[in-house]
Amino acid sequence: MTTDLLYHEMFTKHVMSPGHPERPERLISAMKHIQETGLLEESKVKLIEATPANLDLVHSIHEKQYIDMVKAKSDAGGGYFTMDTAVNKYTYDAAMLAAGAGTLAMDRIIEGVSKNAYVLCRPPGHHAEYDRAFGFCFINNVAIAAKHLIQRHGIQRVLIVDYDAHHGNGTQNAFYANNQVLYIGLHQDGRTLFPGSGFPDEIGSGEGRGYNVNLAMYPGAGDKSYDIAFSEIVEKIGESFSPEFVLVSCGFDGHFSDPLTVLGLTTSGMAMMNSRLNSMAKKLCEGKIAFFLEGGYDLDIVGKCSRNIIEELSDTDTTSYNDIHSESENCTQHTKELIDRLKDSLNDVHF
Ligand SMILES: [Zn+2]
Repeated sequence: MTTDLLYHEMFTKHVMSPGHPERPERLISAMKHIQETGLLEESKVKLIEATPANLDLVHSIHEKQYIDMVKAKSDAGGGYFTMDTAVNKYTYDAAMLAAGAGTLAMDRIIEGVSKNAYVLCRPPGHHAEYDRAFGFCFINNVAIAAKHLIQRHGIQRVLIVDYDAHHGNGTQNAFYANNQVLYIGLHQDGRTLFPGSGFPDEIGSGEGRGYNVNLAMYPGAGDKSYDIAFSEIVEKIGESFSPEFVLVSCGFDGHFSDPLTVLGLTTSGMAMMNSRLNSMAKKLCEGKIAFFLEGGYDLDIVGKCSRNIIEELSDTDTTSYNDIHSESENCTQHTKELIDRLKDSLNDVHF
């Protein structure tokens, strides 16, 4: 079986403003690096053109009135939602195709047509809330994919791991009181970065208590901290949850060269996470995994990390790069203390 690469030309037509960091060139760089692998010609990876999402499904995650407003602003040629989140005439179509790319990927994996997928899309989705566009996001692609798995395919347990440098507030809120979706976010501490949420005490409510896990990383945290976080939290809780499907919100803005954040990951650190998530899916749910592009604003890093995901998913030898960065002792210590606190508060559910 092949790995699917979900894409659509429309993803590059959505532009928010001149010089905006969330720009079409991100996808062009990713596609260039993926093409260099030759995996598309070898048919180990199949390029799949996205189709628009089902509107009823979109309305199960977002308020209808809000979605109508995204369409109305796009139809009018453009408009702002926040200072840094704006639409042009293509945004509604691109956002519907990005969400649809995710559900198409789910269908193909569940039906056994493909083994896994990378949804290489814009606009991203993890900041989009029920009734508002936020942080360059309009429709929450990963939340819609999770909902689709539950509603359409009868899946009971979906694990979402979000390692974008920013907290996935929209995804967290979509399933905060739900125990069918376990959200684990690894992001830069919200006291130091947009959107200012994602703290360790946000652990879910009602039936969802314990099914929302936030690793708020100390500024500067890099490969070592993420390695410990994976060993002590992501893999242990993931195993205890026993997911039937793994969804990953991948953002490459945790790289030390990213212009918007101050985390310290390297391309090897990103590759380590991609590899361990893929291994987890193989071990726990017959390899059913899909990666969804969220952020990442260093074009070269978006390209290299996208290449890594495609190589990883298609079981090809991965290319490594020699970007080196190490974190301070202080960061590592902070991560260990954070993990201890999380283990205490989630003890009755997962440990
Ligand atoms: Zn981000």
